[in-house]
Amino acid sequence: MIPVSCPNCGFGFDAPDESAGKAYRCQKCGKSVQVPGVPVPPGGAAPVAVGAPVAVAPAGGGAGGMAIAGMVLGISALAISFIPCIGWIAFLPAVTGLVLSIVALATAKKAGRSKGAAVAGLVCSTVAIIWIPIYIAVIVGSAMHAVHTLR
Ligand SMILES: [Zn+2]
Repeated sequence: MIPVSCPNCGFGFDAPDESAGKAYRCQKCGKSVQVPGVPVPPGGAAPVAVGAPVAVAPAGGGAGGMAIAGMVLGISALAISFIPCIGWIAFLPAVTGLVLSIVALATAKKAGRSKGAAVAGLVCSTVAIIWIPIYIAVIVGSAMHAVHTLR
């Protein structure tokens, strides 16, 4: 929904997203109100009192940075898990990456950011968390098997 304020009567209401950049009928006085949105450049001919609420995004790279950190940690965890013997330490970045990605995903919508990086981080971390025990089990299993065959 797009917050709109009627220039005629001052009534504030939410216009549907589909009406972005188009005229929308005021719910109070029935006058046509220009809804801010993509088709109309902000500050253009739109006679809207409330600037461009769509463009309002919180400053700082909080969510975006977290999503990227989560993705990097997830990928690192996968890479570390391939190192024999110490692969289990990949759990640390994997779990951290998962937590960061979940937080990034939860705040992405509020911060008006794309969920791409957060989802990628979530997938990488989850794959790492599932993959590491399997990989370790295979290594331990084959090591046990090797010990048995040596005897
Ligand atoms: Zn009105």
